[in-house]
Amino acid sequence: MSTNYGTQSKAKLLQASSKAPALDVFFTPKGDTAVCNSSCKGCYYFSNYTTDTLPILSSHVPDLIANVNSQCYESIFLITSEILLAKNWKEIIESTGDNYINTNGKIIASKGDKILHELEDSGIEQIVLTANIPGYHSGLGLTDENTVLKAFENVHKYGGKPFNTIATVIVTSENYTKLSEMADYVKNVYKADGVKFISYLPLPPDGISELSPSLDQLEEVVKEISVLRNKYDINEFSIQRGGTIGSQGLSESRLGNICPAGDGLVTLISQTDGTSVTPCVFIPGIQIGTIEGGVPVIDPDHLDSFLELKAEALENGYCPAHYLSTQMGNEPQFVQIKVQEATNAI
Ligand code: SF4
Repeated sequence: MSTNYGTQSKAKLLQASSKAPALDVFFTPKGDTAVCNSSCKGCYYFSNYTTDTLPILSSHVPDLIANVNSQCYESIFLITSEILLAKNWKEIIESTGDNYINTNGKIIASKGDKILHELEDSGIEQIVLTANIPGYHSGLGLTDENTVLKAFENVHKYGGKPFNTIATVIVTSENYTKLSEMADYVKNVYKADGVKFISYLPLPPDGISELSPSLDQLEEVVKEISVLRNKYDINEFSIQRGGTIGSQGLSESRLGNICPAGDGLVTLISQTDGTSVTPCVFIPGIQIGTIEGGVPVIDPDHLDSFLELKAEALENGYCPAHYLSTQMGNEPQFVQIKVQEATNAI
């Protein structure tokens, strides 16, 4: 479709980063074991999934969200592997009222109109697919190139209400000079309404450190994003910059909105009392609070420690998650802030 009305997911993120408290709800779509129908290297799902902690089950998500909504969180982000693997995905989406969905595209590629009709009926207007562009994403284990392309084709030939489509393009140390080519591919081959560039983070257990762009490389990415924004009419094709690209080149006002982690956003990975609460799904090793009585309770001292790290990261041009994964050498490492006494619920 040609009309581009931006991204609903982005609007929600901006709301979160304008200090309305937001919650990432991390859940597993099937049973209580880690499951996905793709195996991308460095995926945040497998990074947050731990066998030590009972994960949030998809069957619990609607009730959890109903309870959380009644406590002052204005935005809820659904964080999982492939949401369409969940038997109750419609109920989950209904519980948040989301009108967009992030998916790897496998189920859309195989089921076509049937699933697209269900998505339309569930109020979905925007489909966000992770790109796998031939020649630019090898080694990341992403969903097969042809499958992603087939998913886009199925969306475009769907006979119902047209969906807005966004391709999330992972920028690596190998493809960071090829943004223009990748944007052209998304526009001309995927025929998507926009592209969102995100930086590759080498999250444990299987992230590939060498593929994570350096700060210098991201500086070039930021410049190229500006060039691309001038090249395309935003009403025809939008060029978006994900938070993981970092803070370089942002104005003071936009800097304040780039990263809600910690103060405007917390991540809930379990409902079991005593388990950790992290500031962002991309920072699974940082603990800023614990679950008490099934809800996140933030430790002010540990939150302050994280916010100091976050300020340092943003001053240095990084997304905090990227900063924490790279500042201590080539191997991905995450700072652990130990929780003492949790006192301040948010
Ligand atoms: S740490 Fe990075 S990925 Fe997480 S919310 Fe901040 S900018 Fe976004």
